[in-house]
Amino acid sequence: MQRIEIDGVPVFTAPGPERVTAALTFGVGVRDETYGILGVTHLVEHLVMGSLPKSHLECNAMVDTEMTVFHATGRPQAVVAFLAGICAALADLPVHRIEQEIGVLEAENCPGAHPTAAALWAARFRLTGPGIALAGGGVPVGLTGEVVREHARRWFVRSNAALMWHGEVSADLRLPLPDGPRPQRPAPVRRIERGPVWMGGPALGVGLLISAGDQLDAAVGAGIDALVQRVRDVARHERGLSYHADMEIADVAPGEREVAVLVDARDGEEASVARLLWEQYLDLAGDGPSATELQHVVDGYAEDMDKGDETVLGELSKAAYCHLFDLPYRSGADGLAVWRELTPQQVAEALRRTVATAVLLVPEGVNPGALGGGIQRRYLCNLVPYLPKTGTTFRPPLLARALNRGARMRLVVGDDFLAHADADGDGHVIGWDEVEAAVPAMTGEGVFVIGRNLCGIDVHEDVFGRKAVDLVRARLPRSAWVPAAPSRESGRSAAPEASVAAPADR
Ligand SMILES: [Zn+2]
Repeated sequence: MQRIEIDGVPVFTAPGPERVTAALTFGVGVRDETYGILGVTHLVEHLVMGSLPKSHLECNAMVDTEMTVFHATGRPQAVVAFLAGICAALADLPVHRIEQEIGVLEAENCPGAHPTAAALWAARFRLTGPGIALAGGGVPVGLTGEVVREHARRWFVRSNAALMWHGEVSADLRLPLPDGPRPQRPAPVRRIERGPVWMGGPALGVGLLISAGDQLDAAVGAGIDALVQRVRDVARHERGLSYHADMEIADVAPGEREVAVLVDARDGEEASVARLLWEQYLDLAGDGPSATELQHVVDGYAEDMDKGDETVLGELSKAAYCHLFDLPYRSGADGLAVWRELTPQQVAEALRRTVATAVLLVPEGVNPGALGGGIQRRYLCNLVPYLPKTGTTFRPPLLARALNRGARMRLVVGDDFLAHADADGDGHVIGWDEVEAAVPAMTGEGVFVIGRNLCGIDVHEDVFGRKAVDLVRARLPRSAWVPAAPSRESGRSAAPEASVAAPADR
């Protein structure tokens, strides 16, 4: 692998087939958005791709939590032209096509991050950093051309780009990207938790999040691979069930890797899958993998290093990624050499260090039962046992409360906060200074208030009366208002957390 530079953009390249593959990567993804501009990165990507002339080139683009990638495979000249088109479109974004592309995004209905991973990032970081993915994946609403251009100007610049090119580099390859300072990502705020903890949330299946720390820590990497393998094997062999188990990684900063292990669960099996995942994790953290298990994951790594072009592409992408996020780079071959030296004891010790950071997530309403390892129950949002007393209290009309248990709720509007208690007495409190977004109701007068602490409070005239709505509106910071979505389905659910929990709602 070679590193060269073209027009100020680092290019990671290696000899390869005549049909070259190139990927232009930008260090911007959903985690760089805020609630008010959710989906803007995906919109930029669509505006750019939509501006390219029709061709038969094999090409595509994607946006995930961390980055945006434009890639193509074909004759070198065609790939050079593809990259030139990307750069030209980014330099002068065709914002006149925003409405059209929003229509396409609506039809695409892209879920963004895996919902369980998104909920786990949010459990760790609330709505900051990768946690915003919990609300993301949606279609941007009410964005002006200027807002979209501003986003592109800040993030899609040469100092935030890297190219990987597999094949002989064409002499006429140019990357005339807009100039701009290398964007600084604010560090996401880690929720302090004396773990391990478990909680319910908008999960599809079951998830386990651990802070793996150092990106190059082989022992913890092998331990997580062994865990994924265990869950698959135990489910398949001992229970006759086949579960899909996988992992998703968020590299929040150098030395701050978060790994989410995601396991499918059939309806009704969530609690037992959660127990299986947790027990196997604790077991590996206690005794480590067997020598055979460890050998198996090392063999898996070796196999990944022996896939020809696919391996080279993976290495080039990794180099580009590490460059963009200032992460330490180590070649696959060097990594494998380190993995080969690992002992089961080292793996066990590495996993043991992560136990205090573990978050086990189950779907809302699922109780995993008794779990070992001193795990405690927590809540995704800032649930409180009782509401603050100082403030104006609103309740649904007396008749509604008499007839419907679910209507026995309460809203308190204080000088510093908005609070809501549901029929079960669970309270949610959002300080005015921690409001992330205020979304107008689709029908009637109302507002859904979303806190950075992941509480969501629905204030609607049909439930609490017009006075409550007016009072809340007057308190909300101007900057929090998000335009109403014209296409959203009618009627917002009265359940708190609904909007944050269901990305499709937006
Ligand atoms: Zn809450």
